[in-house]
Amino acid sequence: MKNLLKAYFGYEEFRPMQLDIINSILQNQDTFILMPTGGGKSLCYQFPALKFNGLTLIISPLIALMKDQVDSLKANGISAEFINSSLSYTDIIDIQYRIYQGETKILYVAPERLAQDSFKKFLKTLDLSLIAVDEAHCISEWGHEFRPDYRSLKNLRIMFPKVPMVALTATATKKVREDIINQLSLKNPKIFISSCNRENLNLLVMKKKNSFDKILELIKKHENEQIIIYCFSRKETEKMAGDLIERGYKAVFYHAGLNDETRKKNQELFIKDEVQIIAATIAFGMGIDKSNVRMVIHCTFPKTIEGYYQEIGRAGRDGLKSDCVMFYAARDKRKHDFFINQIENEKTREYQKGKLREIIDYAESLSCRRKYILNYFGEECSNEKCNACDICLTKKELFNATKIAQNIFSCIDLTGGFFGTNYIIKVLKGKESVKDWHKKFFVFGIEKDFSDDELKEIILSLINLDFIKKSEGDYPTLSLTFKAREFLQTPVKIEIQKPKEEEKIITKKIKEDLDYDRILFRKLKELRKKIADERNVPAFVIFGNASLQEMAYYFPCNKESFLKINGVGETKLKSFGDVFLKVINEYVGENGFEKG
Ligand code: ADP
Ligand code: ZN
Repeated sequence: MKNLLKAYFGYEEFRPMQLDIINSILQNQDTFILMPTGGGKSLCYQFPALKFNGLTLIISPLIALMKDQVDSLKANGISAEFINSSLSYTDIIDIQYRIYQGETKILYVAPERLAQDSFKKFLKTLDLSLIAVDEAHCISEWGHEFRPDYRSLKNLRIMFPKVPMVALTATATKKVREDIINQLSLKNPKIFISSCNRENLNLLVMKKKNSFDKILELIKKHENEQIIIYCFSRKETEKMAGDLIERGYKAVFYHAGLNDETRKKNQELFIKDEVQIIAATIAFGMGIDKSNVRMVIHCTFPKTIEGYYQEIGRAGRDGLKSDCVMFYAARDKRKHDFFINQIENEKTREYQKGKLREIIDYAESLSCRRKYILNYFGEECSNEKCNACDICLTKKELFNATKIAQNIFSCIDLTGGFFGTNYIIKVLKGKESVKDWHKKFFVFGIEKDFSDDELKEIILSLINLDFIKKSEGDYPTLSLTFKAREFLQTPVKIEIQKPKEEEKIITKKIKEDLDYDRILFRKLKELRKKIADERNVPAFVIFGNASLQEMAYYFPCNKESFLKINGVGETKLKSFGDVFLKVINEYVGENGFEKG
């Protein structure tokens, strides 16, 4: 098995679970796989396809991706085809003929094909060994990406009762999981659930204040690396891209309002690394297989945690460290409310409101972000600290908040529990705009030394410590809990975390996985781009960044050592070995480095 893995995919080892999954499939078991984006799902059906005698049929909704996947497989020496609406009738006939001849191991199709009688008839003539349903959550109405087309997949079990089926997804709650298994009629499926944890993603939440300056800092940190910036509206994407271009960056924008041609062009520019940054609405990303995105920024917090996790999942698919930054401002809730309030069905509306509360809760939480997300998806998290989120990366400095807590509680109490955070802060800071009779309270203007942001964070801490209760709804008000009333009677020492400084987090260097040679890496990237452009495929089809970094670290000088690089298999060695070795050897010779 390992020899095949190296020869065809160029990898030294299976990732956790891959081998168990592959063995289950090879025993003709129906199999269900839940694995995070970038976890290595594709290999779980591509590898068995090599071992099976017949054809492996893969159903995927991601039409835009099929060509790339098939190109990747071909670059690895595996015969694969795809059939979807982007092909002409004659192309399809040609391909079907080749498949019929038994020359093909893997066939990708879009789900709508399976509703066509002619295609079903064609399938019936084939020797199918395995059916893989990718993005399987699309079959469930409970999922967030339901696709009516997926309904026709129910027929597969009836048409091919004996062919093993594997369903794969990255996002599924228990309910969706059961729904998938039912709808596809999987028989006693073996279920593999790998952790949702994406260790290489840094999860950062930042205050949405001077956010453009912060974004510029973040981009500086990721010089020459690919970045997605998600904006809330189409207009914002255009402004963001425009502002960045003004600063000398190569940027494009992307949203559903653009005509097909422009949308495709802008997407292509980003995928081919011609531009560094794409400013997009969430219309961008589905069906994009780009492994070297180093940072995903959300200018406005998204509307669900599921959506957020999927969007940031587009970062770091090559396994290298990447930053995910969410800019949070409580005021942005109004933007979401506007759309949620337009939902007519009451049940759906309430459901969406609940989802929104959860993501706000995430953003306002003062404990480890990763732990929060993993718990949200029903996973235990053994570590207290992940060391890769803004909370864990901030050194905790406590300060004695007894006095200020007393003032905040008194202020909430005196104003009757009818006001929200911002108003309470105004009173504490002695702002003229508060109601006249509130100016008579002793707390009026008592905390002038703290900034609004600091006071906000202190109040948040006190909410988290259950001293203050924040009501739900559109205009949340603050009131005191029993614990706070007790405290006002007999004060005890309250210690909370000092409001944190975000700048430190921005500049914190992400730990690199390998200390590779930057100049050689750039040269190899240029070579990769040249080859990719000649072949009209995305760069990752040639080699991933992780492979190039290994080359720029180990300096392989002959075919034997080149083959040791992760991601180099027999076919890639043959196709690209010579040209890459030439660049490496030249570089090593010029600099007098030791060869690998
Ligand atoms: P998913 O479909 O789960 O999002 P992919 O199948 O696209 O993930 O794999 C993500 C990345 O991991 C790809 O760049 C792939 O080449 C790489 N990969 C998969 N399996 C292995 C492995 N065993 N060793 C090294 N890299 C792997
Ligand atoms: Zn953490």
